[in-house]
Amino acid sequence: MQKILNYINGKLVEPISKNYFDNFDPSTGLAYSHCPDSDERDIELAVNAAENAFESWSTLQPEKRSRIMLRIAELMEKNLDKLALAESIDQGKPEWLAKNGEIPRAISNIHFFATAIEHFASEAHPMGDHAINYTVRTPIGTVGCISPWNLPLYLFTWKIAPALAAGNCVVAKPSEITPMTAFLFSEICMEAGLPKGVLNIVHGLGPKVGSAITIHQHIKAISFTGGTKTGAEIAKVAAPMFKKLSLELGGKNANIIFADCDFDKMITETVRSSFLNQGEICLCGSRIFVERSIYEKFKTAFIEKVKQQIVGDPLDAKTKIGAIVSKPHFDKILSYIELAKQEGGAILCGGEMTKPAGRCENGWFIEPTVIEGLSYDCRTNQEEIFGPVVTITPFDNEEEVLNYANSTQYGLASILWTENLTRAHRVANKIKSGIVWINCWLLRDLRTPFGGMKQSGVGREGGWEALRFFTEQKNVCVKL
Ligand code: NAD
Repeated sequence: MQKILNYINGKLVEPISKNYFDNFDPSTGLAYSHCPDSDERDIELAVNAAENAFESWSTLQPEKRSRIMLRIAELMEKNLDKLALAESIDQGKPEWLAKNGEIPRAISNIHFFATAIEHFASEAHPMGDHAINYTVRTPIGTVGCISPWNLPLYLFTWKIAPALAAGNCVVAKPSEITPMTAFLFSEICMEAGLPKGVLNIVHGLGPKVGSAITIHQHIKAISFTGGTKTGAEIAKVAAPMFKKLSLELGGKNANIIFADCDFDKMITETVRSSFLNQGEICLCGSRIFVERSIYEKFKTAFIEKVKQQIVGDPLDAKTKIGAIVSKPHFDKILSYIELAKQEGGAILCGGEMTKPAGRCENGWFIEPTVIEGLSYDCRTNQEEIFGPVVTITPFDNEEEVLNYANSTQYGLASILWTENLTRAHRVANKIKSGIVWINCWLLRDLRTPFGGMKQSGVGREGGWEALRFFTEQKNVCVKL
């Protein structure tokens, strides 16, 4: 079985403990590689390597850093098929999705920040002919990046790209559930000539490796994407150490459908926003609210389309819904379907695990599930399920649906469907989420601020926001 290795100080190395745990292919339920079970000693090595590399990397001219990063992006492009296949096997997502969506986006992340840093400017505030202030932005030092399993390389690169472009050295930890593409990425960094120690990738369990990053004195900033509970644990440790923190956390997003929407477009996109990547995207619209006058029409059309979604082998081009990432997550989703039933929900379609024939018969698959008849404030409608499960609920007016939409502890994203321009802006204005999509979903411009309100996070990623997060600013006031 293939052994994944840590990437520390420019080399692929075994964890100090020499311990590994199994890494599973969710489509077969079988272990197919070994992931390092690293600990704080490996983090110590990674931090030392990063500290040693910092002086030369941080003082390298931005265009030189940019050139190395662009070389990484080129090599990713060259390895697109290999990365997409690896992501599909490791995560369970359809290979076509990895190949057409996520890996190209991971490449864009590197490309975007490699070029952005060349245009990153600082500000000046002249005080007439009396004095002038200028603000210098400098890299922070060694920073930690911790990422989740749902969009593994996409979210990993989304963090490390701005950190590296801004001149920091990075200690990064991908999810232990999906470590493979980060490992392949470390090989690409070596081939691209990224100087040793600039990026260090340490694999292992969250409570061991992630918390060793969080608590390390020399790691000055942490960019984390993952669950709200983990985010709170990280904040508890990092805040008293006065680390900079960017937290991108869970969501329970509302998809609000008004009767005056473009119905066909809405139905197609709603199937996507419900079930893309098995519903394992923090931005999926898992609570669907439909204006009562079109509720029955919506229900019929939606269920018909959902039933056409083929659940099966992620490597089969016809598959729309692949495997659930891990056995514990599979069990968690099924337990929420049971909870929905106990809470009085009616399962309109799906609701069961399924076993595709052939090589995937022991994999972890769940049918796309649509539930109705639940109150907006029950647990099923308040807690993040993060799987192919959505609820549908009718509403009568704007005020009511805004109350439903804003009722959760989360505030990551929301989706609105209406052709009424005034209503679209009015509702967008009142909705409490960091991202609002009107008549679309997952349309992303990397320059825009990305992140959530309430318990969906603290801070924003993307564009200048990310480069600002990964730099310290200093104001210099000069008397003229
Ligand atoms: P998770 O919180 O379990 O793990 C995320 C990462 O944190 C992993 O690398 C994990 O090993 C690490 N970790 C776990 N415990 C840790 C600890 N005590 N200290 C430091 N690190 C620790 O989340 P997950 O299950 O991997 O991902 C799913 C969650 O991520 C969902 O809640 C989803 O909404 C969220 N998510 C949010 C966004 C966003 O942009 N807001 C994007 C994707 C996923």
